[in-house]
Amino acid sequence: MIYLDYHATTPCDSRVIEAMLPYFGEVFGNPSSSIHQAGQMAADAVEQAREQVASLVNAQSGEIIFTGGATESNNLALLGLARGATGNRKRIVTTAIEHKSVLGPCKELHKQGFEVIILPVDRVGQVDVEAAEEAITENTLVVSVQAASNEIGTIQPITEIAHLAHERGALAHCDAAQAVGKMRVDVEAWGIDFLSISAHKLYGPKGVGALYVRGGPYSLPIKPLLFGGGQEHELRPGTLNVPGIVGLGVACRLCSQLLPEESKRVASLRDQFEGALFTAVSGLVRNGAPENRLPGNSNLTFPGVDAEALIVNTPDLALSTGSACTSGSPDPSHVLLAIGLSREAAYRTVRLGLGRFTTEDDVKYAATAIIEAFNRLVHLG
Ligand code: PMP
Repeated sequence: MIYLDYHATTPCDSRVIEAMLPYFGEVFGNPSSSIHQAGQMAADAVEQAREQVASLVNAQSGEIIFTGGATESNNLALLGLARGATGNRKRIVTTAIEHKSVLGPCKELHKQGFEVIILPVDRVGQVDVEAAEEAITENTLVVSVQAASNEIGTIQPITEIAHLAHERGALAHCDAAQAVGKMRVDVEAWGIDFLSISAHKLYGPKGVGALYVRGGPYSLPIKPLLFGGGQEHELRPGTLNVPGIVGLGVACRLCSQLLPEESKRVASLRDQFEGALFTAVSGLVRNGAPENRLPGNSNLTFPGVDAEALIVNTPDLALSTGSACTSGSPDPSHVLLAIGLSREAAYRTVRLGLGRFTTEDDVKYAATAIIEAFNRLVHLG
C-alpha cells in the first residue's frame, strides 16, 4: 500500500516511537507528583518536550499548553476566550474553509449569542483580506484563520490578519495543525496570540497536541473549559499524557532539523507527480494556490470520473476524497464548495498528501496507477 494521505495523518516516525517507549514502562511517574524521583523524571521529560515544541514555532516554553490535539486546542482557544470575554466584544471572525473543529465551536458560540462572521475565500482558497478588514470591528473578540488548508494546502496571510485584528483590539487565533512541521511557523513574526498544534500531523502520535498562548495563560483573557486540577496552569487540567507529550516533543525536534530539506524534497516529488498526471489527463484541474501551498499537497479535480470510483480502482493507493473528519458524510467538502467548485466537480476531486516517507518510486507508481484507472473509467463512463 502506498500511503498518500498525509493530511489525514502522518505515520509516526520510528525515532518518535523509540523516544516514547520508556514512558509507557519504566518511567511511569505522574509529572504532577514531582516530589519523588519517579514523578520528577516524568516532569523533566514534559518540560523538555515543552521546550522542543516552543522552539519549532519560535515561542517560549511557558507559552505552550499541552492538549489532546488540535480539535481540543481550537475549542479551548475559541470557547475559552468566549468565557473570558467582557464588555461588548461579541463578534468572532473566521473563514469558510476552516476545519470543522473551528467552525463547530463558532456555531456553538453563535447559539450562545455571539455574532459569527464567515469570511469568503477566492478561487485558490486565499482569504479575502479586504473583507477581513471590513469584518473586524471594535466589537470583535477574536479572528480565527488557519495557517494552511488540510484539503487544498493553501497558505493564508496570517501576519496581515493578525495585524488587522490587533488594530481593532481583537485577538488572533491560528489553526496551524497542517502547517507546523511542514512550513516555517513563527508565532513572533506572525504576531499571533493563539496557535493550535497537532502531533499526528507532524510524524508524532495521535491524541496529543498543544495550544500556544502568547505570554502564557495568565496574560490573555482565556478561561478553562475543564475544572478540577492544577495542570497546565489550570487552563487544561488533568493528568498529562506523558508518552504522547514526549512524542510530540521529539517529533517537533525532528521537524526543526529536517524541515528545510524535507519541504523541498516533498514539493519536488509532488511537482513530479502532478507533472505526470497533467501530461496524461487532459482537462485535469488543480485546486489551491499553485505556489502558495503546503509542499505535500495535491488536490485534483478529474474530468468525467468520480473520485470514489478512482479511489476504488486504485486499491493499493491510500487516497482521500476530502478531510478525514468528514469522510463518510454524503456532502461534498465545504472547502471545495467555498472555492467555487460545483457539487458535481467536488465529487470528482481527490486529495493527495505526500510526506517524509514518500519516495520517487511511490510517486511514479501512484501516477501510473491513477492514469490507468482514470483511462479505464473514462471508457466505461
Ligand atoms: N485543524 C486542521 C486544519 C486539521 O487538519 C485537523 C485534523 N484533520 C484538525 C484541526 C484536528 O486535529 P486533531 O486530529 O489533532 O484533533
